[in-house]
Amino acid sequence: MIRFENVTKRYRGTSRPALSAVDFEVQRGEFVFLVGASGSGKSSCLRLILREDVPTTGRVAVLGRDLRSLANRKVPYFRRHIGSVFQDFRLLPSKTVYQNVAFTLQVTGSSRGFIQQAVPEALALVGLDGKQKRMPHELSGGEQQRVAIARALVNRPQVLLADEPTGNLDPATSVDIMQLLARINAGGTTVLMATHEAAFVDQMQRRVIELRDGEMVRDEVHGGYGDTSNIPRLVPEEIRGAAAAAALTAVQEVQRQTADLSVVRAALAEELSAQRKAAAASSDAVPTASETPEAQAAPIEPPIADERPAEAPASVGPLTHPILLPQVDVAELGVADRLGLSDDGAEEVGPTS
Ligand code: ADP
Ligand code: MG
Repeated sequence: MIRFENVTKRYRGTSRPALSAVDFEVQRGEFVFLVGASGSGKSSCLRLILREDVPTTGRVAVLGRDLRSLANRKVPYFRRHIGSVFQDFRLLPSKTVYQNVAFTLQVTGSSRGFIQQAVPEALALVGLDGKQKRMPHELSGGEQQRVAIARALVNRPQVLLADEPTGNLDPATSVDIMQLLARINAGGTTVLMATHEAAFVDQMQRRVIELRDGEMVRDEVHGGYGDTSNIPRLVPEEIRGAAAAAALTAVQEVQRQTADLSVVRAALAEELSAQRKAAAASSDAVPTASETPEAQAAPIEPPIADERPAEAPASVGPLTHPILLPQVDVAELGVADRLGLSDDGAEEVGPTS
């Protein structure tokens, strides 16, 4: 499902490669922790999987596609099959919980009927059904991350990438989020999580891939975190204001999901005007769009047609590792199929490796 073949990544202007000869394969349905000190190359790996960047040498294949030969115009469609969540949540601050989750679907041109069904189901799955009308600032950090997870899942991706998803949360809330990710994985979604949180990794006893200075030093089927002595305390990445992060996310959504640009432009204009109003109304103002030149300057991919290769899905083996965390029956929520959490592979777009 995800394969790295001898992948080396050198960023321009750096002497040491960020990744050196990294080689691993993740099968469909696995839960894999990517661990290592800050700067060891975890986020670089996730960016390569999303095709936000390309290897200097070596090959990355995801969902049966060699990402080298994936045409640029097909990248947004490819990314619809991959959900991602981040340490800093990246919600649109002027939109409600419901609107934050619906935004992706509006951008991809989903029907109103589908949106009205899928958004509440995604919110129910993450335990936020009563909070659809709340604004992000009215939620706790854990709830904000749940919204981000609902947004990542609403398109029913086959893979969920999580980059330090508990990095801004207190330990108890982090456990809740960890349980949610385990449940999502139990429903069949492949999960790859980069983390510093040694306790979860030790508790879960799942597969662990460890990076040290860009080199893979461990790939263990039922691993713990390993030696934590030289891992510095996690410092959250600097966030340059909620509006900057949100605008950047909105543009990334566009690049990721592009379907109807007029919808996107209208939504962005609405978001920016709401933020300006909020800024004018409050001395505790959020930054305006003028402070996010990179977001405005980011290229927007042209729309592409929805297309699915015709080949039959590869067979799905049983989940190999037991879930150690408490489980909720996803089927009970009646949303497993809608969110791609059921075992049937009807929506599979390609071979699993
Ligand atoms: P991690 O997520 O494990 O903290 P990263 O993948 O972010 O590690 O970074 C790995 C290495 O690559 C670090 O040395 C970092 O400074 C460097 N790096 C990451 N992104 C860039 C970039 N865009 N340009 C130059 N160097 C980068
Ligand atoms: Mg990182």
